[in-house]
Amino acid sequence: MHSIRCSVESCSYNKNQECNARVIQVGGKGAQESKQTCCGTYLNCGVYSNLAEYTEARDNVEAILCRVDTCVHYGNDHCTLDSIQVGCGERVDIYTETECQSFERQ
Ligand code: SF4
Ligand code: SF4
Repeated sequence: MHSIRCSVESCSYNKNQECNARVIQVGGKGAQESKQTCCGTYLNCGVYSNLAEYTEARDNVEAILCRVDTCVHYGNDHCTLDSIQVGCGERVDIYTETECQSFERQ
């Protein structure tokens, strides 16, 4: 189980700055800095409403899938950390504006 703090409040899975998705996919293969990474699971709450209301009963994120092979925490297409911080700003219109702030360059 994992926990994800996330400041992207415009995402449907966000509630009280916590991620309530079952699984997330972090993207940014070959990234050199955190702003070149993103949360590919982001869904704009203006379009999808608040999915956290339906998923939060699960309590924890089951898996953090990740393609950022240049991060020290990367292992076999997964994140090896128990918890990460995702962010960027409070209002984000598209997933590429998000980033994994726990990224550390190898
Ligand atoms: S942007 Fe990603 S980490 Fe943040 S709440 Fe949405 S799905 Fe979860
Ligand atoms: S900390 Fe690194 S391995 Fe974990 S999700 Fe973020 S970029 Fe991927």
